[in-house]
Amino acid sequence: MIYDTHSHPYLAKEKSQEVILENFFKNTKNRLNSIACDLESSNTCIKLAQAYPWVHATIGIHPTHCLDYIAKIEDSLLKLEKLFLENSRNIVAIWEIWLDYHWIDSLSQKYNISQEEVKQIQKDFLKKQIQLAKKLHLPIVIHNRDSSEDILEILIQEGYGNFVFHCYSEDLGFAKKLLYNFPDCKLWFWWIVTFKSTQKIQEVAATIPLKNIIIETDSPYLTPTPYRGKEENEPVFCENVLSKIIDLREESPEKIRETIYQNSLDFFWVL
Ligand SMILES: [Zn+2]
Repeated sequence: MIYDTHSHPYLAKEKSQEVILENFFKNTKNRLNSIACDLESSNTCIKLAQAYPWVHATIGIHPTHCLDYIAKIEDSLLKLEKLFLENSRNIVAIWEIWLDYHWIDSLSQKYNISQEEVKQIQKDFLKKQIQLAKKLHLPIVIHNRDSSEDILEILIQEGYGNFVFHCYSEDLGFAKKLLYNFPDCKLWFWWIVTFKSTQKIQEVAATIPLKNIIIETDSPYLTPTPYRGKEENEPVFCENVLSKIIDLREESPEKIRETIYQNSLDFFWVL
């Protein structure tokens, strides 16, 4: 049993989403979250969750998209809230929300505003989506690119520990800081943990308490070793991420598999 907590089946190009999902659901205990990036894909994910009982949807506006919503932040938040209220049975979290300083230069040129302004807009949008999650009692998914300290500061300011750190790429020192402030938050491990050169992330996966770990594919992107460069990622490859974590840790394989699966069910309130 596997819970791929982060996938975009509707973005796959090599296979149809039906084939991908049927392949994954051969094990009927498997679960999958279909992740939105904007208002349109939020609707797509809800439809997918309605069609497949093992698929759960998220809603949210991604930081590299949020600049398109500057003039209508309040309106788009209201739309997200309305989507949730009408489809609460199918929605398990708000995401992807994050700060992304990796693209700050190109975003500042594209929208003809300063880099500081881009950062400020992303921060405002992040805070407002955290506040919406608090109001709706939903977990949030945080993606961080080159912005870990700013994200931690906002999480502490907002006092919201019901989050998972998507694509965890920081070192053990930052993981300790997160867990010191928010002992029940989750760190999300993805294909990079299968890569030989990522020892700092493997150290985190080997060291933090098992109760704080969940796994994801981010498919169709980010194919794990050994399929990297050969085929599109898909939810069944979650097994590769899990195997790597089993190799890295001391607990028995059964305990790791069951605990990570249960962590995901509990975090997203999925039965
Ligand atoms: Zn993603």
